[in-house]
Amino acid sequence: MKAVSLLGSTGSIGKQTLDVVRQHPEAFHITALTAHRNRKLLLEQINEFQPKIASITRKEDAEWLKTNIDATTIIFNDTEGLLAAASEESAEVVLNALVGSMGLLPTCHAIQAGKTLALANKESLVAGGSLVMKLAKLNQVDLLPVDSEHSAIFQCLRGEKSSQLSRIILTASGGPFRTLSKAVIETTDPSAALKHPNWSMGQKITVDSATMMNKGLEVIEAKWLFNLKTDQIDVLVHPESIIHSMVEFMDTSVIAQLGQPDMRVPIQFALTYPDRYQLDAPRLDLSALAQLNFEKADIDRFPNLRLAFQAMEIGKTMPCVLNAANEKLVPHYLERKVSFYQMADLIESIMSHHVPFDYDSVEAIHEVEQWVEGQVNELIR
Ligand code: NDP
Ligand code: MG
Repeated sequence: MKAVSLLGSTGSIGKQTLDVVRQHPEAFHITALTAHRNRKLLLEQINEFQPKIASITRKEDAEWLKTNIDATTIIFNDTEGLLAAASEESAEVVLNALVGSMGLLPTCHAIQAGKTLALANKESLVAGGSLVMKLAKLNQVDLLPVDSEHSAIFQCLRGEKSSQLSRIILTASGGPFRTLSKAVIETTDPSAALKHPNWSMGQKITVDSATMMNKGLEVIEAKWLFNLKTDQIDVLVHPESIIHSMVEFMDTSVIAQLGQPDMRVPIQFALTYPDRYQLDAPRLDLSALAQLNFEKADIDRFPNLRLAFQAMEIGKTMPCVLNAANEKLVPHYLERKVSFYQMADLIESIMSHHVPFDYDSVEAIHEVEQWVEGQVNELIR
């Protein structure tokens, strides 16, 4: 039985991870759960999975849980609780399904505790990639991608020599604004950005998909996970989200991983790796689909993608600035305080005012993020 610590259990990835665990009671058990605000759902999860520990951000919610749980679970709160879950002694694998770069500290903590890390929280790698990879190497822990594109690439590269890889091709659905003109995108109500054509996900990543910042973050995530140079990463829009990504080798051979868009597949693979287990999920029927479509990514209509490549090329703390500016701006966009293209303009402006430097601690990253927050607040005002 593999003991799993699940950070962010009340979110989209968190709930789907518990679905996978429910399908394999003989293989997995949950040893830690964490949530931020949703105490009601966390209570249900604790009662069902009976973890050793659980944590929620606010102290009053932790107290409420203590008086209502029907389990011997020890309840923690705040960052201390999150880190306790990330390094819980009995956990063999930590699945980080937190949203945003606040996931970086628990990511580093889990690695330093020697845990295998199944990583959905891409912002960890975007903000602190060099630190995360350095710690993973130092502590000899496996980083297993949960993001569907990165899981696809990871699967395509099994048994291959990285020196023989030419490039990777990250597929992108193009999001809900894929076919709209710039003028229409700019005047479309932000609520439309929350309606993704293929995937049901948390609010932040859904907006990131509409702006294509999600693909930009994934480009940087891929750079770190697969040790790639900028010119080895291509993005291809593929509206059906059936091909989850591809790799091309030096002999021009291309290998792709396909499947229905269902996050439980990459989640389960990260948990069962290097094995594969049965999964009760819809199967792919290509004859029913009849056709798959592809188009070039348009960096004019989706400038965030261009900014992400730029930040990656500059390196050091620049991807952290890109990510932090985006994280701070997405809620302002949803509240209609900034428009779609103002978001990209503000990210670009903040990047232009940052002097990137090499970092070697989470604190250094947090300081940069605080500076970005100040910049966003000033510019919004
Ligand atoms: P959600 O917003 O649905 O869930 C986020 C989780 O993190 C929730 O459990 C939430 O708790 C918790 N959380 C939020 N803020 C904090 C905080 N400040 N402190 C502690 N916990 C917090 O996000 P998703 O599941 O959609 O995404 C999670 C990660 O996975 C992201 O990095 C995303 O990019 C990545 N990802 C997601 C995919 C998807 O299909 N959803 C696909 C590929 C990658 P609560 O709900 O209790 O407030
Ligand atoms: Mg993805």
